[in-house]
Amino acid sequence: MARDPRYDILFEPVRIGPVTAKNRFYQVPHCNGMGHRLPRSTAAMRGIKAEGGWGVVCTEECEIHPSGDVWPAAEARLWDDRDIPALALMTEAVHEHGALAGVELVHNGVSAANRYSREVPLGPSHERTMNYDPVQARAMDKQDIRDYRRWHKAAALRAKKAGFDIVYVYAGHEMSIAMQFLQRRRNPRGDEYGGSLENRARLLRELIEETKEAVGETCAVAVRLAVDELLGPDGITSEGEGREIIELLAELPDLWDVNVSDWPNDSLTSRFGPEGDQERYTAFVKKLTTKPVVGVGRFTSPDTMVSQIRRGVLDLIGAARPSIADPFLPRKIEQGRPEDIRECIGCNICVSGDRTFSPMRCTQNPTMGEEWRKGWHPEIVPPKGSDDAVLIVGAGPAGLEAARALGRRGYPVSLAEAGAELGGRVLREARLPGLAEWIRVRDYRLGQLDQMSNVEIHRASRLTPEHVFEFAAPRVIVATGSHWRRDGIGLTLKAPVPGFEGNDIYTPDDIMAGAAPRGPVLVYDDDHFYLGGVLAEKLRRDGVEVTLVTPALAASYWTEKTLEIGFIHKRLLELEVAILPNHSVAAFRGDRAELACVFTGRKRELACASVVTVTARLPEEALYRDLIADPDRLAAAGIRSVTAIGDALAPGSIAAAVYAGHRAARELDAPPLGDAVPFARELPL
Ligand code: ADP
Ligand code: SF4
Repeated sequence: MARDPRYDILFEPVRIGPVTAKNRFYQVPHCNGMGHRLPRSTAAMRGIKAEGGWGVVCTEECEIHPSGDVWPAAEARLWDDRDIPALALMTEAVHEHGALAGVELVHNGVSAANRYSREVPLGPSHERTMNYDPVQARAMDKQDIRDYRRWHKAAALRAKKAGFDIVYVYAGHEMSIAMQFLQRRRNPRGDEYGGSLENRARLLRELIEETKEAVGETCAVAVRLAVDELLGPDGITSEGEGREIIELLAELPDLWDVNVSDWPNDSLTSRFGPEGDQERYTAFVKKLTTKPVVGVGRFTSPDTMVSQIRRGVLDLIGAARPSIADPFLPRKIEQGRPEDIRECIGCNICVSGDRTFSPMRCTQNPTMGEEWRKGWHPEIVPPKGSDDAVLIVGAGPAGLEAARALGRRGYPVSLAEAGAELGGRVLREARLPGLAEWIRVRDYRLGQLDQMSNVEIHRASRLTPEHVFEFAAPRVIVATGSHWRRDGIGLTLKAPVPGFEGNDIYTPDDIMAGAAPRGPVLVYDDDHFYLGGVLAEKLRRDGVEVTLVTPALAASYWTEKTLEIGFIHKRLLELEVAILPNHSVAAFRGDRAELACVFTGRKRELACASVVTVTARLPEEALYRDLIADPDRLAAAGIRSVTAIGDALAPGSIAAAVYAGHRAARELDAPPLGDAVPFARELPL
């Protein structure tokens, strides 16, 4: 199909100093939990994005020196020449598809505890390092500043050797010395690097000048700058010092990559902000410089992208998450099929990879992180390995993705769903406050299935074992999902809570099906991800009094990994939801609950008329169990395999369910792995 001429502007080349990006699609730096530890995996992942049409593909942050080491986070590294080959793998993979490769050089300063290198951390002043490590950074003296500039320059030269086309000076978040010097609250220095903004920006200016001097003839020098920290007058703001810094340095770099800080604000989830949310902070930049400007905003709509350029907000469309969810986003626009874009849902499961020091995964893109170790391509699946028909039971994320990928492989697929609508848990959860974008998990897959003549969808079809035997498809995939427990058993409690067997006890399934508990409500969250907090928010908005009780140290504790925990607390507290951490529920007595402190066991009472218990789920596995219990009947019906996947096997995240569906589709008719490790490994020896 031809590209829509409205989108032609997105495919114009953009000159960036001495290099030219072939189009306006710019994958900004983003962490991935692989970094220097898994260089082949990282290179393959970046290469796929270049193949998918991104004109520029950048690394994650790249440490320049052992005194700025963020172990165990797995970032890129250019500590010395021995790090060059790993990054050369990445630049080669990116260049193979005609894209430019960018590297984000970073010294983490006060945000590095140097757990691996054991060097004393550095910063503009004596200060506690971030992230609760009981470690202090020491104030850099003039010699330290000279050393740091020399390290930065050496890293830039190594980056050039590794083949990079764009070299960054980074002040995009707090985790950068250059930014820490800019921050008035962090920089009380009395010398020429502190005091006035001009002084605080001196280091940034020197870094830009010296990087240009070192590599500027062949490499573009980009600056990533947070123009607003969203701290009001306590921080850098787009009306104040953010603007002044751009004014001071306007023509110095070859490219401005501008964003808001800190990282939770920058990678805002869809629960807390829409596409294009940063425009109000970054739009001024283009007016102050003739250099190209890139910015982010979880852009997935080509119309929004065009509008950003036509209205003079940005020159290049920056994307981290949209490029993770769909590495082929630019190609799809180019090929006139924007409806095939797998849109990011803004859930930050990808971010949790960095926060848990593990290879990034993506809710929408199950191939993320598997490009090298499993050879999975986001757009290509192997052709079918037999003519077997496949019956998939359940059209949640797992069943839908299995149907999509098997359909693409060419199998005849029947997808049966008990409900009138498809989507399973995302259908229910996307109706909760803030989670509307999550329906994209279903919508993308439905859009793809609609294009396939070999996939039949049966709605309102709750299948019994009898139906499955009768249908007699040789391959059966059971993706029947899960339900929430009602007994209070979860991470903390291993026996049912007395009183939870009675009335006025609700599960998330009940609430999502429309139940309205009497207030005051106790939401007991021993699940620790988003749902307990979301249900507390919903019930409060519905007008009842809510107390969220959790055995964890904070509400929605695991959402620290998705950068949401602060926003969640702010929202719940502003809605006047009471939050009681460090307590479990010992009993419910109709008009009150007995709570127990997890540290002391001390009991207290809380008046409440009902309880919503969010603890753990059980697989909906009866169909699967009944089927596999009768191997003779399966054989007689010609059913060769029955496989349970997703929540029906073990309840997990939506990302895990999509992954399970994808994996089941890829592995159908593939040679059995036996006891082999199911992926290639990057072994240090
Ligand atoms: P997952 O996350 O693993 O995809 P979900 O709970 O989101 O699981 O989806 C499971 C889907 O399976 C739900 O839409 C549910 O209605 C459907 N389902 C459950 N049991 C049956 C059944 N026996 N026949 C058809 N559909 C079923
Ligand atoms: Fe988007 Fe979620 Fe995928 Fe991250 S994990 S890219 S936020 S869909």
